[in-house]
Amino acid sequence: MPVEVHKFGGTSLADAERMVHVARLVGSVDASTVVVASAMGGATDHLVEAANLAVAGGRDTALERVSALHARHRIALLKLKNPPGVADEVERVVAELAELIGAVSRLAELTPRVRDRILSCGEKLSTRLLAAAMQREGIDAIAVDADTFLATDGRHGQANPLRVVYERTTRAALLPHLEAGRVPVVTGFCGQAPDGATTTLGRGGSDYTATLIAGALDADEVSIWTDVDGVYSADPRVVPQARIVPHLNYREASELSYYGAKVLHQRTMIPVSRAGIPLRTRNSFRPEQPGTVVDGRFTPGSHPVKAISAIRDQQLLSVEGKGMAGVPGVAARAFGALADRGLSVTMISQSSSESSISLAVPSVDALAAESALKSAFRDELGRGDVEEIVVGEEVGLVAAVGLGMAHTPGVAARLFGALGAERLNVLAIAQGSSELNVSIAVDDADVDRAVRVLHDALGLDLIDTGSESPDGLDLVLLGPGSVGRAVLAQLEDRREQILERFGLRPRVVALADRSGFVFDPAGLDRLDEILAAKAGGSSLVEQGGTAGDGDALLDAALTYRLMRPVLIDCTDAPSGALMLRALSAGWDVVTANKVPLAGPFELHTDLVDMARTSGRLLRAEATVGAGLPVIETLEMLQHTGDRLTTAEGCLSGTLGFVMARLQQGDKLSEAVEVAISRGYTEPDPVTDLCGADVGRKAVILGRLSGLLGPEDEVEVEGLVPDDWAGLPVAELLDRLRTKDADFESRRAAAEAEGKVLRYLARVSAGTAVVGPAAVPLDSPIGRLAGSDNLVLFRSERYAERPLVVIGPGAGVDVTAMGVLGDVLRIAAERR
Ligand code: ADP
Ligand code: ASP
Ligand code: MG
Repeated sequence: MPVEVHKFGGTSLADAERMVHVARLVGSVDASTVVVASAMGGATDHLVEAANLAVAGGRDTALERVSALHARHRIALLKLKNPPGVADEVERVVAELAELIGAVSRLAELTPRVRDRILSCGEKLSTRLLAAAMQREGIDAIAVDADTFLATDGRHGQANPLRVVYERTTRAALLPHLEAGRVPVVTGFCGQAPDGATTTLGRGGSDYTATLIAGALDADEVSIWTDVDGVYSADPRVVPQARIVPHLNYREASELSYYGAKVLHQRTMIPVSRAGIPLRTRNSFRPEQPGTVVDGRFTPGSHPVKAISAIRDQQLLSVEGKGMAGVPGVAARAFGALADRGLSVTMISQSSSESSISLAVPSVDALAAESALKSAFRDELGRGDVEEIVVGEEVGLVAAVGLGMAHTPGVAARLFGALGAERLNVLAIAQGSSELNVSIAVDDADVDRAVRVLHDALGLDLIDTGSESPDGLDLVLLGPGSVGRAVLAQLEDRREQILERFGLRPRVVALADRSGFVFDPAGLDRLDEILAAKAGGSSLVEQGGTAGDGDALLDAALTYRLMRPVLIDCTDAPSGALMLRALSAGWDVVTANKVPLAGPFELHTDLVDMARTSGRLLRAEATVGAGLPVIETLEMLQHTGDRLTTAEGCLSGTLGFVMARLQQGDKLSEAVEVAISRGYTEPDPVTDLCGADVGRKAVILGRLSGLLGPEDEVEVEGLVPDDWAGLPVAELLDRLRTKDADFESRRAAAEAEGKVLRYLARVSAGTAVVGPAAVPLDSPIGRLAGSDNLVLFRSERYAERPLVVIGPGAGVDVTAMGVLGDVLRIAAERR
């Protein structure tokens, strides 16, 4: 039968109702169970107060505290229907307590030994009641006092277990109960000194009791039941956005508790990490929650830092002197001097010039630490090698903890950058040699703010998707129309190669159309079904999606911890503001949508700037020549130091087709009619014919190349005016016929000069012109066939003969290919 240890904190044992609830939780455990109980919530604090009052002469008020505690336990007992024998036990403990308090006040002396005896009463009372509650639930339970078996040294208030002894005595005390099918309910927090006196393990020490027992019994698991769902990424009272960390390595958990995360006592992890026993922290109020698992695994996940914790009331001390440089072991000696006096050092850091060492100690120990250091460095002080030992400010230490830091460069820089941006003054820093934590001393008053700033800077407020995939590439697709669907199909096809080449797994987490969006941070599992329904004309909201725009989708997505999120825009909507938000949130963006980049000049620059400042990629290959490497070529020229002088060419497959038909002798209206009938045009052919689309491409090319500035506009001559938009096809063709003669004569005139009409876009410094133009038949553009696109770059390097990119530049598949190419570039960057 497996053995489990279940520890219930004071927060889970507030009153009789909570005890009954806990008893039921224990009843549902399918294992041999040891229960470890803390005192009822707040009881230990009351005992501390009573002892302090008694020694300070406040005997009556001290005894009032005792009666209040007595009453609280009696009420609970009554609610538990006064089980036989338990009242007597309670009376016995309370009588001893009253006696101890009386003695302390009479002697006006509170020794650590007596204090421990007083404090242990809280657990002695709660275990009696909890055992009774369990018996009422039909569990064979018995209260057992740890100060009868858990051997420790005699360091009262902060006792250390004596391993060779307690492992044996613990087994001897508890195994007989387990073998008899009984559940021992053990007092947490307490131990037994070699002289038989009661000791305590330090405040919050019941967690430690639980793992000590688990280690001694070689238990299969330890549960630490408390009032929160697990270990949070920061104290939830300080950072409301803190989230549960699903898994911690023992070392991470130790470090966090050492640096003030109260949820687990500092030394809790020692016995279980030694034996490899998993520990779970769970919420007794919400037992269905998975909690945090602590074990030996290393799970860096996407965030190298898992949590931030803080300790207050520390004081900085520094040992300063130029004579220390090059002298080995100074830090170790300082450390040793303090350790010899039992003073714990919470942080130690040495400046790189080695001319000073900073140490932090709890403020209560500052004076003792100062004198320890002064005597340790007496000789150096005399010689002047150490100039002075300074007691500095009251500080708080904020620690960022996570084993992943060792593998992720630049975390410390990010932390300091964030603190600097918030004008939080860093007084000292230290990084553990294991790179498990970075601790930062800040002014005591700044601690909470520093914790919040760091938590935010590391994105720890993001909800885990629950399907942790460090190799994920999370895609959000706006516009699952024909191009969008083709992108996803091509991506699916390349999935294996993407994993092989970049080590990444693309995953579609959201789709958005005009009606709304579907979103699942763990990946859309009905993707194929949704896309098929979408292709059949059904909207996303009709398929159970959420109504809302792109901003609403981003709001939802930004609360999750997505992996390398990429926004893919295959719409023709004015989505510039949304792209800005995505970039600033650290997403990469791929767009086939020309509107944002060809809109207001400021928006274009804002987007490019935002991508640069947030270190993200904004890719737009498909906006100019679909799958052709137009922008890529432009960037290649720029990156290699070339300067573009002009870019010109044919950027519309539809208009290319129409012009080619004209060349073969078709009338304009006939050529358009054929283009429409073959499906080469947009649903409203005017969109193509008016030249606006080519105009946008020219603007994007001009802006990306730096040829067009804020004041520069494009001159567009369409084949038809744009106010013909929306005309029925028959009417459109009728009107086009009025232009047939004009085009026929332009064609003839061109032909007479050995030229041919093309629909041309031409960008040079400060100008962009788009419209029909005659070009020599014997030129790259003149030779262009059918609907192919062509861009011809002239630059300083390609001055004599231009660099030409040519090929099919329209159509769903090649456009999707352009988008996919951009996604792959992002994968290459982010792997
Ligand atoms: P118990 O009485 O169950 O031992 P404690 O009060 O000792 O409970 O510990 C639980 C409390 O620890 C929580 O209520 C929470 O306020 C506090 N806490 C501080 N830091 C953290 C953290 N990082 N994660 C979870 N809880 C924390
Ligand atoms: N009751 C003790 C305290 O309040 C021990 C514990 O709760 O773990 O410190
Ligand atoms: Mg606790």
